[in-house]
Amino acid sequence: MKTIGLIGGMSFESTAVYYRLINEMVRAERGGIASAEVLMHSVNFAEIVDYQKAGRWDLAEKRLADCALGLQAAGADCVLICTNTMHLVADGIAARLDIPLLNIVDETAAAIKAAGFRRPLVLATRYTMEHGFYTDRMRALGLDPCVPEAADRTIVHDVIFDELCAGMVKDTSREAYISVIDKAKMAGADCVILGCTEICLLLDPHTLPLPGFDSTTIHARAAVDFAMSAPEMRIAI
Ligand code: GLU
Repeated sequence: MKTIGLIGGMSFESTAVYYRLINEMVRAERGGIASAEVLMHSVNFAEIVDYQKAGRWDLAEKRLADCALGLQAAGADCVLICTNTMHLVADGIAARLDIPLLNIVDETAAAIKAAGFRRPLVLATRYTMEHGFYTDRMRALGLDPCVPEAADRTIVHDVIFDELCAGMVKDTSREAYISVIDKAKMAGADCVILGCTEICLLLDPHTLPLPGFDSTTIHARAAVDFAMSAPEMRIAI
């Protein structure tokens, strides 16, 4: 089994989900008490959020690239940045690595296309919904993504940072998200992306007004598929 390198802590609430999902998927495939080979560098999210707020994506890229290089040096066979937002700097990080960086945008787009959908609503942080690194990349991959209107983008963004990243899950916020999805459905969206790795804490992708694609689960699956793509080699005992 190959070793999965995780850059986590953004926030730790969702990194914990990654860790559980990756191990559950490996156990389901290998059986018994098998678990994944994982290396993780979990950062202080407060530092990263300061860079985001200041628009200092260059500093964030440097910080996360150092983490990725550390994982590579420690023996990771691939790297995952466990947040959609920080994929804003993913290409710059990938360019410095000799091992693959599994890109959450590419993996999510591939899952949507494989399921036969084309016009996803993107629910995510303001950075992901507005910067273009996500929607432009999806357009280049043949999808036609849409985002909520401005007032709804503020609600979606604030719930992520003020509640989900802080360990709070509120029914009122779930209702607010569902009404945003209802509006997008009326406007022609054919599916919805949980495009922030904490949204799976609030919404079940299988019980929404539109078919849901959870970026955390999709990304974890990609990591496990990568890790299991090598034949298992163990010392005989
Ligand atoms: N985990 C979130 C995401 O997937 C937001 C945290 C961040 O700003 O990195 O975008």
